[in-house]
Amino acid sequence: MNQILIAGGGLAGSAAAIALARAGRKVTLIEREAAPAHKICGEFLSIEAQSYLAETGLDLAALGAAPITHVRFVRGGSSTVAKLPFQGLSLTRKTLDEALLNAAAQAGVDVRRGHAVRHISAAGGALSVAMDGGARLSPQILLLASGKHEIRGAARLARPGTLVGFKTYFNLRPEAIAALASHVELIIFSGGFYAGLQMVEGGLANLCLLVPTALLARVGGKFPALLAHLQSLSPHLAGRLAGATDHLSVPLSIARVPYGFVYRPDAQDPPGLFRLGDQAAVIPSFSGDGMAIALHSAARAAEAVLAGRPAPAYHQQLRADVAAQIKRGMVIQNLCARPLINAVLPGLVRLVPAILPLAASLTRVPAAARLYT
Ligand SMILES: Cc1cc2nc3c(=O)[nH]c(=O)nc-3n(C[C@H](O)[C@H](O)[C@H](O)COP(=O)(O)OP(=O)(O)OC[C@H]3O[C@@H](n4cnc5c(N)ncnc54)[C@H](O)[C@@H]3O)c2cc1C
Repeated sequence: MNQILIAGGGLAGSAAAIALARAGRKVTLIEREAAPAHKICGEFLSIEAQSYLAETGLDLAALGAAPITHVRFVRGGSSTVAKLPFQGLSLTRKTLDEALLNAAAQAGVDVRRGHAVRHISAAGGALSVAMDGGARLSPQILLLASGKHEIRGAARLARPGTLVGFKTYFNLRPEAIAALASHVELIIFSGGFYAGLQMVEGGLANLCLLVPTALLARVGGKFPALLAHLQSLSPHLAGRLAGATDHLSVPLSIARVPYGFVYRPDAQDPPGLFRLGDQAAVIPSFSGDGMAIALHSAARAAEAVLAGRPAPAYHQQLRADVAAQIKRGMVIQNLCARPLINAVLPGLVRLVPAILPLAASLTRVPAAARLYT
């Protein structure tokens, strides 16, 4: 059996696989999706995420990534446009994750698609992985990169969140497409929840929403009713979606996003079980830095494995790198949910333009921790 097994071929799993295979390690990666698939994500790539992706050799522009230079904050009838402190990019996860998986295969990783890891056990420190279909693998090192999906035997003890996320794509009218060029829009609702809208490759607009579970229940639990409700609250969103056609028949959704979670290592943790990406840390989505954290964790895990360091040391390092950033993200998210602040957000950004670069810098992977810049 290969010594290194990676469960999950999202950003974190593929990036770690590439780094380890290029360093000469034999790596097997298990990805449960048999074919390219959409993922729930706002698909905004921060400058840090771009640096880490450049290290994998991906040419993001050639994949169709488009620059995002400005953010438009919208709240009711009020809106403000601010220049981002860096140039972001938009790229669908379907394209990005597929390119990374292909790069992993090219680097020599044994990529097995359409298979899922069902159970992990680490009795006495020896790892045993049960696959669907009944096969059992015994890797020396397991990189757990299954995103927000829990695997039996290795479930995180994350506090369940209260927000539910949706993502879908729309074909918008030409005027709406023109208005969104190079912009990401954050449409803020009272209560602090929000919708993000931006163009991605293929002429589609990504609409990503985060709403309280209780609100979804109040409108009957169905996405069309939720979207209709949000449009009734936001004339701006209603205007953007007027005459639009849905590109996905069913939106992607995720319940109880565990924002604020950072894996806390335990001395009893098996030395060969490394948690990457969302299995290790989850920053509020408004920061647009979740992918950077996933890629950072991949680089840190590969670094630790190559140096022969045990998993608890890696988890300690990752915690030191990102815990403060994630905590600040939570503070900002909670502040923005306060009615007084929430009501005046666009005006506040207009009056005090320094707020945006400050919030951005507070919620980035800190420069001192970054492995690539
Ligand atoms: C609503 C929302 C909006 C977001 N917007 C942004 C944004 O705009 N910018 C940003 O930077 N971040 C954003 N994020 C965060 C970002 O999407 C995640 O942090 C990132 O996807 C984490 O990468 P990952 O590799 O850990 O997990 P994932 O990308 O989820 O990959 C996990 C992989 O594991 C596979 N898998 C799962 N279970 C198994 C199994 N049992 N066996 C084998 N394979 C398995 C899955 O199929 C998947 O391919 C957002 C998150 C949410 C919830």
